[in-house]
Amino acid sequence: MTQQLALKIDVDTYRGTREGVPRLVGTLQHHNAQATFFFSLGPDHTGRAIKRVFRPGFLGKVSRTSVLEHYGIKTLLYGTLLPAPDIGRKCAEIMRGVRDAGFETGIHCYDHIRWQDYVAGKGEAWTRREMQRAVDRYTEIFGEAPHAHAAAGWQTNRHALRLTQRMGFDYSSDTRGTHPFIPTWQAEIIACPQLPTTLPTLDELMNRDGITLDNIAQHILQLTATPSASGRTRDTLLEEPLAIRLGEPTTLAKSLVMA
Ligand SMILES: [Zn+2]
Repeated sequence: MTQQLALKIDVDTYRGTREGVPRLVGTLQHHNAQATFFFSLGPDHTGRAIKRVFRPGFLGKVSRTSVLEHYGIKTLLYGTLLPAPDIGRKCAEIMRGVRDAGFETGIHCYDHIRWQDYVAGKGEAWTRREMQRAVDRYTEIFGEAPHAHAAAGWQTNRHALRLTQRMGFDYSSDTRGTHPFIPTWQAEIIACPQLPTTLPTLDELMNRDGITLDNIAQHILQLTATPSASGRTRDTLLEEPLAIRLGEPTTLAKSLVMA
C-alpha cells in the first residue's frame, strides 16, 4: 500500500510570497507533487514579532534557526522601522499564478502577527473584522470566494471557528493534531471540518537532536514512514474523527472524504 500525504504550505511574509512561493511551485512541479498554499493577504508586520523576544522559548528558536538568515533583515524591520508592505496588493499576480498552475489556494490570514498574537483573547467583532478582511482580499485577488482557511500560528478562538462554518469554507486547517475532526466548543458543534497539521515544522526540528540541513528531509520522511495509528486522540477540540483518504502528495481538499 502506498502511503500518501497532503502538503500544506503556509506563506507568512512578503519575501516568502515573492521569492519563496515561485521556487516552491517550480520544485513541486519538478517532482509532480501537489500542495495547498495558504496566503497572508494583508500587511507584513513581521518586525513587530520582536516583542516575542520576551517570551519563553523565543531566544532558543532564534539561536537554533538563525532567524536573521532565514527571514532577512528587511523582513525583521517591517512594521517597525520600515513600513509594512501589503502582500496581497504587491503579490496578487504571484498568488494567481499559483492557482493557475493548478495548486489549491486558501486563506492564511490578513495580518499574521496581529492574528497570531491577539486572536486567542479577542471577541466576536475583532475576529469577524480580521477574517472578513482576509475573505474580501482573497476574493478581490482571485475573483472567487475562498473555500479553505488555515489560521496563522494555529491560533484560533470560538468566534473564528464559528466563522469557518458561517463563511462557508469547505474545511479549515487551524490546529495541530493527528486526525481530521469536527470541532465542538462547549457542546457547540461547528459544521466545518478541521484538517490538522500532523508533522513538526522545519524550524522546530532544526539543530535539535542532531538534525541539520543535511538530514532534515530524511528525518521528516522517517516520521511518515509508518501510517498513523487509527483511533481517537483526545484533545480539547477533537470530537468526531473523519475518514481521510490520502493520495500522492496532494491538496488538502482532495484528501478530505467525509465519512
Ligand atoms: Zn504562518
